[in-house]
Amino acid sequence: MKIHEYQARSLLSEYGIKSPAWELAQTPQQAADIAGKIGGTVVVKAQVLVGGRGKAGGVKLAHSAQEAFKVAKDIFSLHIKDIPVRKVLVAKSVDILQEYYLGITVDRAMKKAVLMISAAGGVEIEELAKNNPEKILKLYVDPLKGPSEAELKKAVAGVFIDPELSVQALDTLLKMYRLFIEKDCSLVEINPYAKSGPDTLIALDAKINFDDNGVFKHPEIERLRDPEELTADEVRAREAGLSFVNLDGNIGCIVNGAGLAMATMDVIKLFGGEPANFLDVGGSSNPNKVLLALEIITSNKKVKAVLINIFGGITRCDDVANGILMAVKKLDLKLPMVIRLIGTKEPEGKEILVKSGFVVAENMEEAVKRVVELV
Ligand code: GDP
Ligand code: MN
Repeated sequence: MKIHEYQARSLLSEYGIKSPAWELAQTPQQAADIAGKIGGTVVVKAQVLVGGRGKAGGVKLAHSAQEAFKVAKDIFSLHIKDIPVRKVLVAKSVDILQEYYLGITVDRAMKKAVLMISAAGGVEIEELAKNNPEKILKLYVDPLKGPSEAELKKAVAGVFIDPELSVQALDTLLKMYRLFIEKDCSLVEINPYAKSGPDTLIALDAKINFDDNGVFKHPEIERLRDPEELTADEVRAREAGLSFVNLDGNIGCIVNGAGLAMATMDVIKLFGGEPANFLDVGGSSNPNKVLLALEIITSNKKVKAVLINIFGGITRCDDVANGILMAVKKLDLKLPMVIRLIGTKEPEGKEILVKSGFVVAENMEEAVKRVVELV
């Protein structure tokens, strides 16, 4: 689960980590009023649950209330990675002498928490991680033991050369780690952690994600959930009782069973394709579910072909076939579709589809190869 920067700033502050004064605005006028109250230069920041706002024009400085109005108006008109901006944070701007990076996440392979520290923070951190990983210092922490303070102190001193800064950074990292553990986070990140004066460090941005399986332990975190975290089709799928996750590819997938759905995505990738979604229609064989699933999948403009992969157990292939026919008629579907059905009522299902002019693949490999060729 993700939360907004303003929510993350409040959590950091509960743990004693400072960031410059800020307030939230929902209109340009509110942004101007806050800017007037804070005084001097402010930074206006889009509050959306995706990264890379700075690069997308979602973070801008304003030197007066008037300018804050204008800048906020521009930011409210943006869609950042398809997400409309509904709230902006207006914060006191500070002069940045240097941008550091502090982050804590889980390294699954190591089965440890990993603390990451860099003197080259800022909006290019992903590129840095890719091209100059040696510039990000990593320290693995056994979650049962916690960080060794001596070890951490040494690591921090190597990045924050000035002893005064190094003391502050160590303090901040220990507080971040406490937050990370106590709230079951999967990520706590401050970027930039800015040097704003000869001996001052301050958090200018905050990103916190939570382990979905731990949120139930923290009602105060659950209350922070923004339904906008899900895309419109994910919300519809959730309401329809389908397990659905949006992905970046162009092959829409309808599969029954989460395991088969995962395997289907793997096979698509194996043959060089990219799935547009994960979708598990579940074990029931209600033709309406197939209709809904097709409706949700084909509303995604990126989808160029649909793969339906059904293993009939409780699910009956003839019901699925009828659902497909219903959907094609009702939705006036023109997209190419590749279907593979096996199991309960397989001959009946195939007959229904073949009669209506569909080609039914003999096996999963053939089906996937065909859909990859189609896109
Ligand atoms: P992100 O792109 O979503 O990570 O947004 P950030 O909050 O990290 O802001 C992006 C960049 O804007 C930062 O790396 C800074 O360079 C700049 N920035 C953010 N806050 C301030 C500020 O208070 N003053 C100044 N001068 N620049 C800022
Ligand atoms: Mn940032």
